[in-house]
Amino acid sequence: METIQERIKSSIRDIKDFPKEGIIFKDITPILSDVSLSNDIVEEFVKSIQEKGIKIDAVACIEARGFLFGPMIAQRLSVPFIPIRKKGKLPYDTISYEYDLEYGSAVIEMHKDAVQKDWNVLIHDDLLATGGTAIAAAELIKTEGNVAGFSFLVDLTFLDGNKKLKEYSDNVLSLIKY
Ligand code: AMP
Repeated sequence: METIQERIKSSIRDIKDFPKEGIIFKDITPILSDVSLSNDIVEEFVKSIQEKGIKIDAVACIEARGFLFGPMIAQRLSVPFIPIRKKGKLPYDTISYEYDLEYGSAVIEMHKDAVQKDWNVLIHDDLLATGGTAIAAAELIKTEGNVAGFSFLVDLTFLDGNKKLKEYSDNVLSLIKY
C-alpha cells in the first residue's frame, strides 16, 4: 500500500516558471479533489502534533493556501482558527509585520485581539520555502502568545527555511520534503 507521503507526492503538480521564471510552483489543488487523501492529511497532521505532545491553544494560518488545511486542523483539535492575511484584508483593528521578499517587501496582518495572552499557537501554511512568511507570522504571534510550532504540507528543504524556524520553535512539522 502507498504511504501518505507517496500519495501526496503523486498528487502535487509541478508548474514550471509560475508565477515567474525559475520557480517550480507546487500546485496542491489536485489534493483537494481527493477527499480521502484530504481527510488523511488532516489526520496525519493531528497525529504528528499529538505524538510530539505539543500543547496548542489556536492554529494561525497564512493566507491563502494556509486556509485550505489549517482550519480543518484547528477544527479537529477543537481550538480556534486565526487568519493571518495580506495587508488591508482584515476588517477590524490589526497588528502588522513587514518582511523582505526576494524583490521588495510584503506586509501581513492579524486582528489585534486574535491571540490571547500566553496562548500556544501553531502556525500553519501549505509550503515552507525560505521561511520569511512563517517568521513574519511568528513575530505577530509573539506579540501576545508563544509559538508552539509550525506545520506545513511541503518543506523545500534545499532553501533551509527549517533552520531559521528552529529559532522560534523546535517543532517544525512537514508531511513531505523535497
Ligand atoms: P517563504 O516565505 O519563502 O517560505 O515562502 C512561503 C510562501 O510562499 C508560502 O505561503 C507558499 O505558499 C509560497 N511559496 C513559495 N514557494 C512556493 C512554491 N515553489 N510553490 C508553491 N508555493 C510557494
